[in-house]
Amino acid sequence: MIDDKLLDILVCPACRTKVVCEGDRLVCQNPSCGLRYPIRDDIPVMLVEEAEKPDQPETPDETP
Ligand SMILES: [Zn+2]
Repeated sequence: MIDDKLLDILVCPACRTKVVCEGDRLVCQNPSCGLRYPIRDDIPVMLVEEAEKPDQPETPDETP
């Protein structure tokens, strides 16, 4: 479980929006971003490369 104080200072590295804990993930609160960051050994992995994209992308991306 992630500490509230830690959650308070964590932001999505992609868009600088706050994240919330959902299950074993941290989810970006920006609806146009929505990346989901894994938590490994109680440590949030705040890396865009490690994040999961939302199920329904809001905007087309340049990713292959
Ligand atoms: Zn974001």
